[in-house]
Amino acid sequence: MITALRGTHDILPGEVEKWQHVERIARQLCEQYGYVEVRTPVIEREELFSKGTGETTDIVQKEMYSFTDKGGDRVTLRPEATPSMVRAYVEHNLENVLPAAKLFSMGPMFRYERPQKGRYRQFHQLDVEVFGMQDPAVDAEVIDLAWSLIADLGIAQAELVINSVGCKDCRPMFQEALLKALGDDLGKLCQDCQRRAKTNPLRIYDCKVPADQPIIDRLPHSVDYLDEKCAAHFAGVQGHLNTFGIPWRISHRLVRGLDYYTRTTFEVLGQTLGAQNALLGGGRYDGLVEKLGGPDRTGIGFAAGLERLVLALPESAPIAAPRRAFVVAIGEEGRAEALKLLVELRRAGLAAQMELEARGLRAQMKRADRLGARVTLLVGGDELARGEVTLRDMTSGAQRAVVRSEIVQAVREVVSS
Ligand code: AMP
Repeated sequence: MITALRGTHDILPGEVEKWQHVERIARQLCEQYGYVEVRTPVIEREELFSKGTGETTDIVQKEMYSFTDKGGDRVTLRPEATPSMVRAYVEHNLENVLPAAKLFSMGPMFRYERPQKGRYRQFHQLDVEVFGMQDPAVDAEVIDLAWSLIADLGIAQAELVINSVGCKDCRPMFQEALLKALGDDLGKLCQDCQRRAKTNPLRIYDCKVPADQPIIDRLPHSVDYLDEKCAAHFAGVQGHLNTFGIPWRISHRLVRGLDYYTRTTFEVLGQTLGAQNALLGGGRYDGLVEKLGGPDRTGIGFAAGLERLVLALPESAPIAAPRRAFVVAIGEEGRAEALKLLVELRRAGLAAQMELEARGLRAQMKRADRLGARVTLLVGGDELARGEVTLRDMTSGAQRAVVRSEIVQAVREVVSS
């Protein structure tokens, strides 16, 4: 037997309905907020991510599925969506095509990580990006969309955390203060932190090693080193969130693992997910479009992990199953007429099914039950001779004869009731 690769999953019936539910709500919300869909390839040039995601990140250093293709090009299965979205925005001059570049995308991502609950090697994200708009109201709109997604999915006990990591002008001051505060303690931190201190000191805040935590807790906070503009921007974001009635708290350690973040960073944390508790995360990345060869345009966005949203769905999530009709043929003489009715129902846009291999009445009724049919139509025998079909309401158990020419309308009424 050939099995699926470690960290990858088949999404099977029984589970796939939850995915469809999450995807449907995500899509509806994005459209409601005025975001348009973009679909980019899952495979890109490796340099897009080494440059975009950043050479010093764990993703680029340890987790990318990169290889040389048969033409000799270095290519990568995308580990995240933002660099691809920026590339598409720049490559197709989307700023000239779209009045406001508010984009979303959904699809698989690939990271060679150690699999555990909520962490996989192929996973899926909803990705939301806004280009070319600087106002704090944009940050707040993006966060509001993220928060509405969690609320509309009925995920309770979620928490929004925000922070500001400043910009290229004020961050150096913060980094300096951070290294100064670390001082001799740097030697006591883990190997990863020692490396981070040289390549990207802010990421020391991402460290999860228990022994490092007391030292990291004493380090300074980025919000105390913001310049005037960044401080005003962050205050603006908080004000809008309050107006929108969204509860938030500041997490000083929220610097996020990627190189490109500026100013606002945020995450929504779930309570039921264990160690991998971030349902979604994002922030502003004002220099990235330019870094990837585009004009000087700001950017902000977030990515939500669909696996984690599915895991966090409440038991009672209203998973919409199609309300089906099931056609049952009685005897050979009923079969031809039943098949005709099946096609007629489908042509009329109704969800209908039938047992295509001739079987007895009991077996057919059992199948109707297992499929959760809302209504069953019995075709054959005396009713057929009278030009009627028997309609059985599977919820109430009530049964009645309906004139053949009125059956489609009668089914429509039952399934929409
Ligand atoms: P990131 O792109 O790392 O900021 O992640 C954004 C969101 O994607 C996270 O909050 C998770 O919900 C999800 N995510 C990231 N990495 C994984 C993974 N390996 N497996 C499943 N979900 C992930």
